[in-house]
Amino acid sequence: MALTMNQYSNKQAGIVRRLARAILKLLSPFRAQTLTDQQYTVLIGQMYDLVDDARRESAKAAREFFDSQWNAEFDQDPPDVDLPAYRTEWFEAAMQPLKPQLTSRNSPRDAIHRASQIATKEAENGGRRTVIRAVDDNSRLIGWARYDPEPPTCGFCLMLISRGPVYKTRRTAGDQQLWHPGCTCKAVPVFSRDQWEGRDQYLDADRLWREATRGWSGKNAINAFRRAVEDKHRRDLSVAA
Ligand SMILES: [Zn+2]
Repeated sequence: MALTMNQYSNKQAGIVRRLARAILKLLSPFRAQTLTDQQYTVLIGQMYDLVDDARRESAKAAREFFDSQWNAEFDQDPPDVDLPAYRTEWFEAAMQPLKPQLTSRNSPRDAIHRASQIATKEAENGGRRTVIRAVDDNSRLIGWARYDPEPPTCGFCLMLISRGPVYKTRRTAGDQQLWHPGCTCKAVPVFSRDQWEGRDQYLDADRLWREATRGWSGKNAINAFRRAVEDKHRRDLSVAA
Protein backbone atom coordinates (compact mmCIF):
# COMPACT_ATOMS: atom_id res chain seq x y z
CA MET A 1 0.00 0.00 0.00
CA ALA A 2 1.33 3.43 -0.91
CA LEU A 3 1.64 5.83 2.01
CA THR A 4 2.08 9.59 1.69
CA MET A 5 3.97 11.52 4.38
CA ASN A 6 0.68 12.74 5.74
CA GLN A 7 -0.83 9.27 5.91
CA TYR A 8 2.35 7.92 7.44
CA SER A 9 2.37 10.60 10.10
CA ASN A 10 -1.31 10.01 10.91
CA LYS A 11 -0.70 6.30 11.17
CA GLN A 12 2.16 6.79 13.64
CA ALA A 13 0.07 9.26 15.63
CA GLY A 14 -2.72 6.66 15.87
CA ILE A 15 -0.30 3.96 17.05
CA VAL A 16 1.11 6.33 19.66
CA ARG A 17 -2.36 7.37 20.85
CA ARG A 18 -3.59 3.80 21.23
CA LEU A 19 -0.46 2.72 23.07
CA ALA A 20 -0.58 5.73 25.42
CA ARG A 21 -4.19 4.89 26.28
CA ALA A 22 -3.36 1.23 26.91
CA ILE A 23 -0.39 2.13 29.15
CA LEU A 24 -2.48 4.57 31.19
CA LYS A 25 -5.19 1.94 31.58
CA LEU A 26 -2.62 -0.63 32.70
CA LEU A 27 -0.82 1.63 35.19
CA SER A 28 -3.65 3.67 36.68
CA PRO A 29 -5.02 0.96 39.02
CA PHE A 30 -1.58 0.69 40.67
CA ARG A 31 -1.20 4.38 41.38
CA ALA A 32 -2.19 4.18 45.04
CA GLN A 33 -0.36 0.91 45.63
CA THR A 34 3.18 0.09 46.68
CA LEU A 35 4.67 -2.43 44.26
CA THR A 36 7.17 -5.13 45.17
CA ASP A 37 10.08 -5.77 42.82
CA GLN A 38 8.31 -8.85 41.57
CA GLN A 39 5.06 -7.00 40.87
CA TYR A 40 7.01 -4.26 39.11
CA THR A 41 8.76 -6.83 36.92
CA VAL A 42 5.41 -8.34 35.94
CA LEU A 43 4.07 -4.90 35.12
CA ILE A 44 7.15 -4.10 33.01
CA GLY A 45 6.57 -7.37 31.15
CA GLN A 46 2.98 -6.41 30.40
CA MET A 47 4.00 -2.94 29.27
CA TYR A 48 6.73 -4.46 27.12
CA ASP A 49 4.20 -6.64 25.30
CA LEU A 50 2.11 -3.57 24.47
CA VAL A 51 5.18 -1.60 23.40
CA ASP A 52 6.55 -4.44 21.30
CA ASP A 53 3.26 -4.80 19.41
CA ALA A 54 3.07 -1.06 18.78
CA ARG A 55 6.73 -1.02 17.77
CA ARG A 56 6.08 -3.70 15.19
CA GLU A 57 3.09 -1.75 13.85
CA SER A 58 5.22 1.38 13.71
CA ALA A 59 7.97 -0.46 11.84
CA LYS A 60 5.45 -1.88 9.38
CA ALA A 61 4.04 1.58 8.63
CA ALA A 62 7.60 2.90 8.16
CA ARG A 63 8.29 0.06 5.77
CA GLU A 64 5.22 1.01 3.71
CA PHE A 65 6.26 4.65 3.77
CA PHE A 66 9.84 3.87 2.71
CA ASP A 67 8.65 1.61 -0.10
CA SER A 68 6.26 4.29 -1.35
CA GLN A 69 9.08 6.82 -1.46
CA TRP A 70 11.38 4.31 -3.13
CA ASN A 71 8.81 3.35 -5.75
CA ALA A 72 8.36 7.00 -6.68
CA GLU A 73 12.12 7.11 -7.53
CA PHE A 74 13.06 3.74 -8.98
CA ASP A 75 11.63 0.97 -11.14
CA GLN A 76 13.31 -1.84 -9.17
CA ASP A 77 11.83 -3.32 -6.05
CA PRO A 78 12.84 -1.71 -2.78
CA PRO A 79 15.50 -3.54 -0.72
CA ASP A 80 14.54 -5.95 2.04
CA VAL A 81 14.88 -4.61 5.54
CA ASP A 82 14.43 -6.65 8.69
CA LEU A 83 12.20 -5.32 11.41
CA PRO A 84 14.46 -4.01 14.16
CA ALA A 85 14.57 -6.31 17.21
CA TYR A 86 13.47 -5.17 20.63
CA ARG A 87 14.12 -6.67 24.05
CA THR A 88 12.51 -6.55 27.48
CA GLU A 89 15.85 -5.46 29.01
CA TRP A 90 15.97 -2.40 26.77
CA PHE A 91 12.50 -1.37 27.77
CA GLU A 92 13.25 -2.00 31.43
CA ALA A 93 16.37 0.18 31.14
CA ALA A 94 14.38 2.98 29.50
CA MET A 95 11.84 2.85 32.35
CA GLN A 96 14.44 2.59 35.13
CA PRO A 97 14.46 6.31 36.05
CA LEU A 98 10.73 6.08 36.84
CA LYS A 99 10.89 2.90 38.90
CA PRO A 100 11.03 4.62 42.33
CA GLN A 101 7.93 6.66 41.54
CA LEU A 102 5.97 3.88 39.87
CA THR A 103 6.54 1.43 42.72
CA SER A 104 5.78 3.93 45.47
CA ARG A 105 2.43 4.42 47.15
CA ASN A 106 0.69 7.32 45.44
CA SER A 107 2.64 7.46 42.21
CA PRO A 108 2.38 11.02 40.90
CA ARG A 109 0.13 11.38 37.86
CA ASP A 110 3.11 12.92 36.10
CA ALA A 111 5.13 9.69 36.51
CA ILE A 112 2.41 7.73 34.76
CA HIS A 113 2.30 10.29 31.97
CA ARG A 114 6.11 10.10 31.65
CA ALA A 115 5.91 6.30 31.55
CA SER A 116 3.45 6.43 28.65
CA GLN A 117 5.67 8.94 26.83
CA ILE A 118 8.72 6.71 27.21
CA ALA A 119 6.67 3.75 26.00
CA THR A 120 5.45 5.60 22.93
CA LYS A 121 8.95 6.87 22.17
CA GLU A 122 10.28 3.31 22.27
CA ALA A 123 7.43 2.18 20.01
CA GLU A 124 7.88 4.89 17.43
CA ASN A 125 11.63 4.27 17.38
CA GLY A 126 10.66 1.03 15.65
CA GLY A 127 9.48 3.09 12.70
CA ARG A 128 12.42 5.48 12.83
CA ARG A 129 14.93 2.62 13.00
CA THR A 130 13.28 0.90 10.05
CA VAL A 131 13.78 3.94 7.81
CA ILE A 132 17.31 4.53 9.10
CA ARG A 133 18.30 0.91 8.49
CA ALA A 134 16.87 0.95 5.00
CA VAL A 135 18.88 4.09 4.27
CA ASP A 136 22.11 2.87 5.85
CA ASP A 137 22.10 -0.30 3.84
CA ASN A 138 21.65 1.41 0.52
CA SER A 139 24.07 3.42 -1.59
CA ARG A 140 21.29 4.85 -3.75
CA LEU A 141 20.16 7.14 -0.97
CA ILE A 142 21.88 10.27 0.25
CA GLY A 143 20.80 9.67 3.82
CA TRP A 144 17.89 10.37 6.06
CA ALA A 145 16.65 13.65 7.40
CA ARG A 146 14.64 14.55 10.41
CA TYR A 147 11.21 16.03 9.86
CA ASP A 148 8.52 17.04 12.33
CA PRO A 149 5.09 16.87 10.72
CA GLU A 150 3.49 18.16 13.92
CA PRO A 151 5.09 21.51 14.79
CA PRO A 152 5.73 23.48 16.98
CA THR A 153 9.10 21.74 17.22
CA CYS A 154 11.40 22.09 20.22
CA GLY A 155 14.81 23.76 19.88
CA PHE A 156 16.67 20.47 20.21
CA CYS A 157 14.78 18.82 17.35
CA LEU A 158 14.83 21.94 15.18
CA MET A 159 18.61 22.10 15.57
CA LEU A 160 18.90 18.55 14.25
CA ILE A 161 16.40 19.33 11.47
CA SER A 162 18.54 22.33 10.46
CA ARG A 163 21.41 19.97 9.65
CA GLY A 164 19.49 18.45 6.76
CA PRO A 165 20.13 15.01 5.30
CA VAL A 166 23.50 14.37 6.82
CA TYR A 167 22.68 11.21 8.65
CA LYS A 168 24.05 8.07 7.16
CA THR A 169 26.04 6.09 9.65
CA ARG A 170 25.18 3.42 12.16
CA ARG A 171 26.96 5.50 14.76
CA THR A 172 24.52 8.41 14.73
CA ALA A 173 21.59 6.24 13.75
CA GLY A 174 21.94 3.99 16.76
CA ASP A 175 22.01 6.91 19.15
CA GLN A 176 18.93 6.67 21.34
CA GLN A 177 19.47 10.26 22.46
CA LEU A 178 18.21 11.48 19.11
CA TRP A 179 14.57 11.07 20.10
CA HIS A 180 13.01 12.37 23.27
CA PRO A 181 9.78 11.32 24.97
CA GLY A 182 6.87 13.16 23.35
CA CYS A 183 8.90 13.78 20.16
CA THR A 184 6.83 13.67 16.97
CA CYS A 185 9.81 13.80 14.59
CA LYS A 186 10.16 11.25 11.80
CA ALA A 187 13.16 9.91 9.92
CA VAL A 188 12.56 10.41 6.20
CA PRO A 189 14.60 8.90 3.36
CA VAL A 190 16.42 11.37 1.11
CA PHE A 191 16.99 10.30 -2.49
CA SER A 192 17.90 13.68 -3.93
CA ARG A 193 19.30 16.83 -2.34
CA ASP A 194 16.77 18.99 -4.15
CA GLN A 195 13.66 17.23 -3.01
CA TRP A 196 12.51 15.33 0.03
CA GLU A 197 9.63 15.33 2.48
CA GLY A 198 10.36 18.08 4.94
CA ARG A 199 12.88 20.01 2.86
CA ASP A 200 11.03 23.31 3.37
CA GLN A 201 11.14 22.77 7.12
CA TYR A 202 14.86 22.10 6.87
CA LEU A 203 15.45 25.29 4.84
CA ASP A 204 13.52 27.38 7.39
CA ALA A 205 15.37 25.78 10.29
CA ASP A 206 18.70 26.25 8.55
CA ARG A 207 17.95 29.94 7.97
CA LEU A 208 16.91 30.39 11.60
CA TRP A 209 20.07 28.63 12.77
CA ARG A 210 22.32 30.88 10.67
CA GLU A 211 20.58 34.06 11.80
CA ALA A 212 20.30 33.17 15.48
CA THR A 213 23.82 31.84 15.95
CA ARG A 214 25.70 34.55 14.06
CA GLY A 215 28.73 35.47 16.18
CA TRP A 216 28.26 32.53 18.55
CA SER A 217 29.86 29.12 18.68
CA GLY A 218 29.56 25.85 20.61
CA LYS A 219 27.22 25.87 23.58
CA ASN A 220 26.50 29.59 23.18
CA ALA A 221 25.30 29.00 19.64
CA ILE A 222 22.97 26.25 20.82
CA ASN A 223 21.57 28.48 23.57
CA ALA A 224 21.10 31.39 21.17
CA PHE A 225 19.24 29.09 18.80
CA ARG A 226 17.02 27.80 21.63
CA ARG A 227 16.07 31.35 22.55
CA ALA A 228 15.31 32.18 18.93
CA VAL A 229 13.06 29.11 18.66
CA GLU A 230 11.19 30.06 21.85
CA ASP A 231 10.72 33.63 20.59
CA LYS A 232 9.43 32.31 17.30
CA HIS A 233 6.90 30.03 19.03
CA ARG A 234 5.71 32.97 21.12
CA ARG A 235 5.30 35.10 18.00
CA ASP A 236 3.49 32.30 16.16
CA LEU A 237 1.12 31.89 19.12
CA SER A 238 0.27 35.60 19.24
CA VAL A 239 -0.38 35.62 15.47
CA ALA A 240 -2.69 32.60 15.84
CA ALA A 241 -4.60 34.20 18.75
ZN1 LIG B 1 11.17 16.05 17.83
